[in-house]
Amino acid sequence: MELYFNVKISCISLFFLFFSYSLHAFRWPLTVIPTQQKTIFTLPKKKRAVRSRVRIKKEMAAERANVLFADCAELSINFTQDALCDVLLDARKQRSPKVRVLLARADNHAEGEWKFTSSQGFIIHVHDNHGKIQKTITMPALIIQIKQNSLFCNGKRIKSALHVRSVNGCGEYNGIVYDGDFIITPHKDTFLCINQVELEDYVTAVLRTESWPGWPLEVNKVFAIACRSYVMFKIAEAQRSGRPYHVKNTNAHQTYAGKHDLPVLKMAVEQTRAIVLGFKGAPILAMFDCCCGGIIPAHIEDFDFNKAPYLARTYACNFCKQSSLYSWQVSYENAFFESLMQRYAPEIARLSDVRILKKDKAGLVREVTVKSPKRTTIIPGKKLYSLLKEVKSFHFDVQKKSGKIVFTGRGFGHHLGLCQWGARHMVLEGWGYKSILRFYYPGAYFMHLI
Ligand SMILES: [Zn+2]
Repeated sequence: MELYFNVKISCISLFFLFFSYSLHAFRWPLTVIPTQQKTIFTLPKKKRAVRSRVRIKKEMAAERANVLFADCAELSINFTQDALCDVLLDARKQRSPKVRVLLARADNHAEGEWKFTSSQGFIIHVHDNHGKIQKTITMPALIIQIKQNSLFCNGKRIKSALHVRSVNGCGEYNGIVYDGDFIITPHKDTFLCINQVELEDYVTAVLRTESWPGWPLEVNKVFAIACRSYVMFKIAEAQRSGRPYHVKNTNAHQTYAGKHDLPVLKMAVEQTRAIVLGFKGAPILAMFDCCCGGIIPAHIEDFDFNKAPYLARTYACNFCKQSSLYSWQVSYENAFFESLMQRYAPEIARLSDVRILKKDKAGLVREVTVKSPKRTTIIPGKKLYSLLKEVKSFHFDVQKKSGKIVFTGRGFGHHLGLCQWGARHMVLEGWGYKSILRFYYPGAYFMHLI
């Protein structure tokens, strides 16, 4: 009997327990506890206490990298955490990295003037020597003068740097319209004028000057990824070296001449947004030239491929053969050639012969001898190339015949990385942009910055 009552009481209590649970479940049917992602703010206190900031930063980088690469089926995750910390973490934090392009450099002893205009004016932050904003002013236009070792902004002397932000997002500097902001800053014995622009705006602008008008969308997608990878590599390089700008606006890096509205180029950038080529977790030095001339880059001796193994392509590109730049010929009158050589070696006179002294395995000229009746001068291939603007590459032969110095050569550029005319021909043959990039940068893989 006692057992019966105990069982009965237990059943009743179980019933009430179940009823109260059901009631609770009925009142809160949609309560879902989210599975929170670990961040620096949600780590347990004990763990935070024993972990250093560097350690947490690295963990965050790895975590973000995994999220970053999760959607990319082609990617082999072969990254180093340190490299990611350097480059990609900042890029992820800011969502869109900014590129600092050097527009002008003036010696502080020289005199110069930089003009800025914008339809809605500028907001100008004047910084002190510690980089803090000293004051903010608005101006419709801006004239920076360099004189007496100082900077003058609309006639007023500035002791440190200026950050010039145009109200409508773009401003005109010396007649060219640029997206983004301008930074005017002293640096060592110079003053620098830097354009700070969003990565994708930078790539769009570069395509106008580095691509060819009328070329197909697919080729421009190839160039967009190469340009983006290259500049991301340079951003990381500048961060390590402490350089205040990332790239120059000339062909020393990538030619950059302000904004434009060309729809094909904008589409190429949009369709490849945030995609870069990577190697060991960091964007690659995606060099490219106009026409490679079929030279095998791995055979070039004057380049350290340990730093960029993806540039050591061991097979030739034969896709640029139909380009007019694949083989070329230029000739100089004897007297004119002699005058050009005298810029390097003034003793050259009554030139009697020009011969190649040394080539590397790839066929690039390393040294040339220029003979005069009294002496023979050895000129490095690079120097000769810089003296003769019409000579298109280091891959050439030279001979003296009938009062002229005749150069015959192959390709246009440095022969490393992507060949632009080759890429164009590949697109016409049906290759996609990803296959083309894999062909020219063996070992590199695709990564997403955002
Ligand atoms: Zn080629």
